[in-house]
Amino acid sequence: MRVHNFSAGPSILPEQVLRKASAEMLCYEDTGMSVMEMSHRSPAYMAIQEKAKSRLIHLLEIPDSHEVLFLQGGASTQFAAVPLNLMSQHKHGVYVDTGAWSQKAIKEAKKYGQVTVLASSASDGYTTIPQLDLSGVTKADYLHITSNNTIYGTAFEALPDSGDLPLVVDMSSDILSKPIDVSKTALIYAGAQKNAGAAGLTLVIIRKDLLGKALPETPIMLNYQTHASKDSLYNTPPTFAIYIAGLVYEWIEDMGGLDGMARLNQEKANRLYNHIDQSKLFQANIALPYRSTMNVCFKLRDEELTGSFLKRAADAGLKNLKGHRSVGGLRASLYNALSLESVEALISFMEEFEAQAMSN
Ligand SMILES: *Cc1c(COP(=O)(O)O)cnc(C)c1O
Repeated sequence: MRVHNFSAGPSILPEQVLRKASAEMLCYEDTGMSVMEMSHRSPAYMAIQEKAKSRLIHLLEIPDSHEVLFLQGGASTQFAAVPLNLMSQHKHGVYVDTGAWSQKAIKEAKKYGQVTVLASSASDGYTTIPQLDLSGVTKADYLHITSNNTIYGTAFEALPDSGDLPLVVDMSSDILSKPIDVSKTALIYAGAQKNAGAAGLTLVIIRKDLLGKALPETPIMLNYQTHASKDSLYNTPPTFAIYIAGLVYEWIEDMGGLDGMARLNQEKANRLYNHIDQSKLFQANIALPYRSTMNVCFKLRDEELTGSFLKRAADAGLKNLKGHRSVGGLRASLYNALSLESVEALISFMEEFEAQAMSN
């Protein structure tokens, strides 16, 4: 009865996670209550949060130099928290503009200091990732990038070398999709609802030497030091979302960790892009070097067919394939929990649709 869910976020969760949460919904272990009903200071809950944190550290191989924070407010809150906490020396952030999410981060940062837009792909409708040249940059506190651009389907192939400049990465839509070198980053943030759990939890991974330097006007709740000093238990954390995230990390371990995830994600994306590229009816929006493995954006060459494609796909149990309203067309989000079988089902449906369209 479950559909093939290609939603861009909140998005599909592993069935194993939903089954376990469902089995434990009324009574978690021997506590006689749901995780949602527990004090966040109770030993049972604190063990859940500890376990989720240690699993995340293990999966991403987060070094001791970095702290993991479980926060709320979504990635959008981090657009303000990042400049408030990191514009400590020069009041100057350097940003790469790769689309709507970068722009929102830029807009917020401008309230707190100087912003330099180092490079932008606006002129080609955000269908590429610009080259970065940091040679002219002086007296800045950090470089901010969006590693995967959920709306357009572009991605940085690898984390850029930011030299001495602390690298801040919005990884909302590709965190945990493949191994990364956390030691190259100063701060990673991500809403959990795309690839790392359920809505309500926001992940921050921050280099410890950057803590405790927030601008004086920083609200207590937006100051990373507040949460780091209390192990993300300063106030009530999003307990159930953290519990679900812990189950997701356990599932990723069972799938072979991030190496296993990367192999599966590459296979899924390759299959779909290859099918689109050989098709006479469908066309990818993004050229090869810039393609995201997470969000595959494409369209029908005859755009008039988009509505009927979406309707018939939904009838066939293939849901949430509509492109973002600012881009149009189609988007298949292939996050970790989406199976290869779902990609195969989409490809079969596209073949059928194309055969019919061509015979008309
Ligand atoms: C979804 C998304 C956001 C916004 O996340 P919220 O948790 O809804 O605030 C920010 N950046 C990127 C790259 C996203 O994909």
